[in-house]
Amino acid sequence: MSDWRIPLSDLDFGPEELSAVQRVITSKWLSMGPEVLAFEKEFADMQQARHAITVANATAGLHLAFLALGLRPGDEVIQPALNFVASANMTAATGATPVFADITSLEEPTLDPTHVAQLITPRTKAVVAMHYGGNQCRMAELLQLCCEHNLPLVEDACHAVGAEARDTPGKKAGSLGDIGAFSFFANKNLATGEGGMVVTDRDDLANRVRQLRSHGMTTLTWDRHKGHASTYDVTANGYNYRLDELHAALGRAQLAKLPGNNASRRRLLTRYHENLQDLKSWIMPFADRIAESSGHLMPLLAPTPEARSTAAQALRHAGIQTSLHYPCIPDFTAFVSGQAADVPLSREFSRRVLTLPLFPTLAEAAVDEVCSVIRASAPASG
Ligand SMILES: *Cc1c(COP(=O)(O)O)cnc(C)c1O
Repeated sequence: MSDWRIPLSDLDFGPEELSAVQRVITSKWLSMGPEVLAFEKEFADMQQARHAITVANATAGLHLAFLALGLRPGDEVIQPALNFVASANMTAATGATPVFADITSLEEPTLDPTHVAQLITPRTKAVVAMHYGGNQCRMAELLQLCCEHNLPLVEDACHAVGAEARDTPGKKAGSLGDIGAFSFFANKNLATGEGGMVVTDRDDLANRVRQLRSHGMTTLTWDRHKGHASTYDVTANGYNYRLDELHAALGRAQLAKLPGNNASRRRLLTRYHENLQDLKSWIMPFADRIAESSGHLMPLLAPTPEARSTAAQALRHAGIQTSLHYPCIPDFTAFVSGQAADVPLSREFSRRVLTLPLFPTLAEAAVDEVCSVIRASAPASG
């Protein structure tokens, strides 16, 4: 529900989600149990990953991934300056220091492997890649680089649920590095409200994530309920980062719809691109890669920050919601005292990007309308 005539995102919820929630309510088992286990199994199958581990949200998942990798104070984690703040915050939560790398170009706003290579020091303990808008990073180059320096590669795959891997047929984004995290926040491609998933092929990391997810306890309430265990030990100082049955049931319903919904997103992205391609001084990132994207976002770069605010204002007056993915992290108050970040392209991108409405049930006529408002606001030079 929103007051916007055309909101930035909207849920595709219907009878499937309703009956999923009803199934849990009827069962009267709310905390981690059979729905969670089934969701993890179904997600692992889709990812072709050895392990898929539900978490309360992707931020918790990134925290557990960093802890499982053994990050400590004094360690450095190279990561994108152009990202949601969760990865940088969770790096700080372990006591480690985020080191910000730039994007490859305004057309390809994902981690630049060349800049990452320049930032590696003896203190570097991990690299984080984020698949902006559901478009895969230069994973082959990043994996090669990480392999040469014996560094784990973490994928912030929050935008990329369901996206095919570029260079590895059959694999999915999020399952190419050592460990990956997905978000099921309300505006993501697979939405449960709050929720997330950690995926990995490494048994050592999976065991550590499972242990820390639930207080470092050796058994779950569900196991004790089923009579599989009566007591437990605590083998680490863990957290409560579990997902519950209601969210897992919603996730399973949404997972079944994911391929169709991502296809709808790609169809609408194509329509945006067709509509706007003659605006020559505007940039549409990843323009030639829609077929392999999860279609999470429709970012558009205005020729100048002024043209962006003129367009955003015109859209707002027309009842059309926009956003900005993302402000540059090293410029946030909580991060400015850190190492000065040399990320000119990320800063330029942040000043010019405008995120347009995109969700599976968006009408094509609405896309056309958004485009004509932008066109009318654009300087005559186009
Ligand atoms: C949404 C998002 C997160 C955080 O996910 P939560 O589930 O809300 O914790 C992290 N990184 C990126 C890129 C995201 O889009």
